[in-house]
Amino acid sequence: MANRIAVYPGSYDPLTKGHIDIIKRGLKMFDKIIVAVLKNPSKTYLFNIEERLDMLNEIFKDHKEIEVDCFEGLLVDYLKKKGATIIVRGLRAISDFDIEFQMALMNRNIDKEIETVFLVPSVCYSFLSSRLVKEIYELGGEIKSMVPSTVDKKLKERFK
Ligand code: ADP
Repeated sequence: MANRIAVYPGSYDPLTKGHIDIIKRGLKMFDKIIVAVLKNPSKTYLFNIEERLDMLNEIFKDHKEIEVDCFEGLLVDYLKKKGATIIVRGLRAISDFDIEFQMALMNRNIDKEIETVFLVPSVCYSFLSSRLVKEIYELGGEIKSMVPSTVDKKLKERFK
């Protein structure tokens, strides 16, 4: 059987344990997951693209079933380039649904071969977002249980 490859696109600014939870669940279904960081020049990020890629490479360095990459432009074009037809996305509490539904249908409109698979994280990560994590660290707090240690360290450095 052909290798089942899925692409998990996102900003990862920064990666949280919610993302890792989704990747682990995805690996029950797929042989390989490509964690693809979107390069979006019109958005401002806390960590630039190199910093985000460095953190991801460090965190997943012992997992050959996880590839770290970045892309710009249309996601469907990136999938084609990688020989993948599956997009993995995480669905948290209801807030994600509207936009995820729109994006999944739009991607299918552009390329009918593309399927989007939604995975639901553990309840403890259902209200976790990169934005919330950044706000907490910016205010001098920390939530070590919600981010990998590499990310915790980087956030503390950034806001010290
Ligand atoms: P955004 O798309 O809002 O910039 P990310 O790029 O961080 O957010 O997210 C990439 C994907 O990971 C999205 O599908 C998002 O719903 C999912 N995700 C983010 N945080 C979590 C979490 N805590 N649990 C499950 N899925 C998550």
